[in-house]
Amino acid sequence: MGIIVSKFGGSSTANAENLKCIDRLIRAAPSRRCVVLSAPGIDAKHPEKVTAMLERCWDLRKAPATLDGAVSAVAERFRDICDGLGVPDVSQQARRQIHDAVAISLPHTLSRGEYLSALVFARYTGLPMVDAAELIAFNADGTLDERRTRLNLKGLRHREGPVIVPGFYGAGPDGVIRVLPRNGSDITGALVAAGMDADLYENWSDVPGLMTADPALVPNARLIPHIGYRQMRALSRAGARVLHPACLDPVAMAGIPTRLRNTMCPDSFGTLIDERCERTVPCIAGRPDAYLPDIRPAALITVFGIACDRVLDVAGPMAPLGTIAKNEQTVVYFAQERYADAMKHLHRVLIENQD
Ligand code: ASP
Repeated sequence: MGIIVSKFGGSSTANAENLKCIDRLIRAAPSRRCVVLSAPGIDAKHPEKVTAMLERCWDLRKAPATLDGAVSAVAERFRDICDGLGVPDVSQQARRQIHDAVAISLPHTLSRGEYLSALVFARYTGLPMVDAAELIAFNADGTLDERRTRLNLKGLRHREGPVIVPGFYGAGPDGVIRVLPRNGSDITGALVAAGMDADLYENWSDVPGLMTADPALVPNARLIPHIGYRQMRALSRAGARVLHPACLDPVAMAGIPTRLRNTMCPDSFGTLIDERCERTVPCIAGRPDAYLPDIRPAALITVFGIACDRVLDVAGPMAPLGTIAKNEQTVVYFAQERYADAMKHLHRVLIENQD
């Protein structure tokens, strides 16, 4: 395998033990030449992700008495991680960085989670960190400067050994920190993969891959091992949350396959998204809060995107309010309060009964 870019989400960076798993994964495959990290996320001991804690620091910026407590909570989180990894404590640096950041801007404040996460991991592994501010370039109007980003990233391809890159942020022409959309480290990973002309983009998280339906609602949901970019894009738009929808274009356009993997089960295959996979796989994605603008009352509608070109003909109490089939995709809508039941029902009708 040539070059692999591996992005690890907040569950994988949430604590020292998980960061040690990432280290083992990198050492196991020299092709993993770039590691993109999110800020520490939620785990059994921490009900809040660091980015949300930083958002609170920003909200409290004008209330110094309470700001100190909020900043300390973030610093303590990084202290715990450093202690668990046995690396020098960065909590003083974290405190300083966050106090400085809240005097600058919200994006700067939010970006400190990824920055510190990458810094600590670089210290633990001894691998070099490249600040995302030097790689991900924004225009003055806040849009991504794709040309400059590509140029910046090209250099990474020729560096020897893995480098660590913080996800989620970059900088404008004036050096001012800007952020991608929330959960945007997926986008950083895809941009880095495209810029490095990688052979594979790995997206590691705490889920096994793409499932036939949300497994929290449908216990019989199954893993989908292969899917094409076109269908993945449609499912993302319909509400599948495994990947940020905006991360699909950079890799699909560069012809780079994306593999969804579970950091805690590195031996399982996960899901491979590849433009060469043309087959449409049965899958149901929905959002409890979605609506069709031409249907009233809009707020009461749940939309399910189903990858098949078939108008559903289901009668009885679970009959949908409507169905639209076009472009190999069917959108079925139910009253919003029926979301969970409708998801289970559609899975039974369209997937389980086809076996
Ligand atoms: N930490 C950022 C967020 O929570 C970005 C990310 O996790 O991808 O939105």
